[in-house]
Amino acid sequence: MKPLDILISGASIAGPAAALLLARQGHRVTVVERASALRDGGQTVDLRGAGRTVMTRLGLADAAGARLLQQRGIATVDADGKRRSALPVEAFGGNGIVSTHEILRGDLAAVLVEPLPTTVEFLWNDTVVSLDEHRDRVDVTFENAPPRSCDLVVGADGLGSAVRRAAFGDDAAHLRPIGLRYAWFTAQIDAELDGWYLLHAARGGRVVSARPSRTGTEVKASLAVRGVDPVPLVDRESQWRMLEREFADVGWVAPQLLDRMRTAPDWAYADLAQVRMERFVTGRIALVGDAGYCPTPLTGLGTTLALVGAYVLAGELGRSDGDVAGALAGYQEVMRPFVATAGQLPPGGVAGYAPRSRAAVALSRFSYWSMNRWPMRPLLTAQFAKADGIDLPAYPAGPVSAAAPGRVRE
Ligand SMILES: Cc1cc2nc3c(=O)[nH]c(=O)nc-3n(C[C@H](O)[C@H](O)[C@H](O)COP(=O)(O)OP(=O)(O)OC[C@H]3O[C@@H](n4cnc5c(N)ncnc54)[C@H](O)[C@@H]3O)c2cc1C
Repeated sequence: MKPLDILISGASIAGPAAALLLARQGHRVTVVERASALRDGGQTVDLRGAGRTVMTRLGLADAAGARLLQQRGIATVDADGKRRSALPVEAFGGNGIVSTHEILRGDLAAVLVEPLPTTVEFLWNDTVVSLDEHRDRVDVTFENAPPRSCDLVVGADGLGSAVRRAAFGDDAAHLRPIGLRYAWFTAQIDAELDGWYLLHAARGGRVVSARPSRTGTEVKASLAVRGVDPVPLVDRESQWRMLEREFADVGWVAPQLLDRMRTAPDWAYADLAQVRMERFVTGRIALVGDAGYCPTPLTGLGTTLALVGAYVLAGELGRSDGDVAGALAGYQEVMRPFVATAGQLPPGGVAGYAPRSRAAVALSRFSYWSMNRWPMRPLLTAQFAKADGIDLPAYPAGPVSAAAPGRVRE
């Protein structure tokens, strides 16, 4: 196969994983990223099931292993910070809510970017503006860089994907909001986590959490609330005011977090949504990871999907003999069942995570308490097994041959 010109939008998890695999096949890869550099830190994600297998096949299991966070498990606390229930990291064979392989999103991105060959070009501070698809190429325009033609465009640019909008149309057709406003950021707080991911669910669908980070003094915090009107994604002041209003009477570390959120170094906010698409490929354009099938953080499977998606996309292209559209059709077919299963919310869904009434809070407490007992244990066993819900094809490794030019299947 002739080496292809491939543009990847997004440099987080799916993008760099795809870039690494495609560059190893000998393709000319460019990555366009809206941020000005690789984004450091970020939320805690986990490597589980097939996602862990992909890291091993990439030869990066040890590099990721060296950056894992030491976490002891998840525990719920009441408004006074008193522990109510706990699920240690060893539960469910190390694949529970907090797994044995927790890592900061930015550290995982760095693990994937560090081995990239220097031939991979990065366009920082930029974004795809338009995509014009032809039989033998895609013409791309950017906000800053000059236009160029590519053999394949990969949208790995997350929930708000620019590639998805340009190639598949209006977001409203593909986003399924789950009604949870979710803020996450890094903060210093006066509360001892002792290695535990602590979570407090208050009446009214409000959830406060704090989990250990790289150092003992900083925590990865989140404030989530259900049932309030959406706030503009670019308007931080409105987000902060909404959270101050909604969490004003919530206990535990909520007052500290409200106090620190405005000065957080890495404030992030989203109206959580699933991405649901019948097809996440078209001709010479493919979506990978959250851009094509975001399951929401509630599933704990977004990273697995992103890594597996990148692996399958590159694998199908590697054995396609230059038939780009055929490779993308293969990618869609292999991923579809896995996306359908892993994309489902866990038992209880949003209401289980952020209960509203007094009775619902009590039920949620019971659910956490019984996670490792009947009736929750079998439900959660099935939930965590989803990470292994794909028979990963063993694609040939190594460079493509310099034979036939890229072509679209008629
Ligand atoms: C608070 C929180 C907790 C989570 N916890 C877990 C967990 O425990 N386990 C788990 O598996 N998953 C978890 N997730 C989900 C996980 O982070 C995502 O599923 C995963 O990061 C998806 O990777 P991605 O590369 O597809 O997209 P993203 O990580 O969203 O990356 C998209 C990249 O594209 C860039 N970008 C965006 N728009 C553009 C544009 N227009 N042009 C160019 N670049 C652009 C972004 O800057 C970013 O670098 C969590 C998510 C959140 C928010």
